[in-house]
Amino acid sequence: MCRHLAWLGAPRTLAQLVLDPPSGLLTQSYAPRRQKRGLMNADGWGVGFLDDAGAVRRWRSSRPLWGDASFASVAPALSSGAVLAAVRSATPGMPMDESAAAPFEGDGWLLSHNGRVSREVLPATRRAESVCDSAVLAAHVVEQGVEHVADTVAAVAAADPDAYLNLLLTDGRRIVGVTWGDELSYLELPDGVAVASEPWDDDPRWVDVPDHHLITVDSGGVHVTDLEA
Ligand code: GLN
Repeated sequence: MCRHLAWLGAPRTLAQLVLDPPSGLLTQSYAPRRQKRGLMNADGWGVGFLDDAGAVRRWRSSRPLWGDASFASVAPALSSGAVLAAVRSATPGMPMDESAAAPFEGDGWLLSHNGRVSREVLPATRRAESVCDSAVLAAHVVEQGVEHVADTVAAVAAADPDAYLNLLLTDGRRIVGVTWGDELSYLELPDGVAVASEPWDDDPRWVDVPDHHLITVDSGGVHVTDLEA
């Protein structure tokens, strides 16, 4: 399973969000604390963010995050108030190039999937950036409309009961997350909200989102709803 992270709030540098936290994505790439499946996330990484003009920018790689000196050099100079980042542990059989690394993009959304899903249960779409299951799922979520993501996940899970469907999305105004087979945690700070596969530090303000829940973050705050209620 991969690990991912979203930030919405005051601009922070990519280094502050991804590299600096003691148990952040960089550490999670080789020593995740809560990962249930897979020991590390060495099969690539990706960072997506909204720039000052509101355009989506992405930087992805098929290499381990811990070995990327170029990203480490530039990350302190790139900042954004809306960031989605991921480190990847590839599912066997999936492509290994950077086009299979999250975040994916569609209709102004950045999307990341932690898990696996049978591609046979997903409709074929030209929108998918890769044949990687996560890219096909991301395209399906965009095509169904992100406002319907809870229904989309429930339908996919019904078609593939072995699927793990942990999703994290942002369009720069909202974060949307779904827990389905894996948890998320969130941290509300005075200047923004982080949502992540696992806490980036031991701050007691981190709150766990249980399995089978929807989390949305917008200017109105954080909302968590039970998808099975
Ligand atoms: N199935 C996706 C991939 O192969 C995600 C894997 C994961 O969550 N570890 O990249």
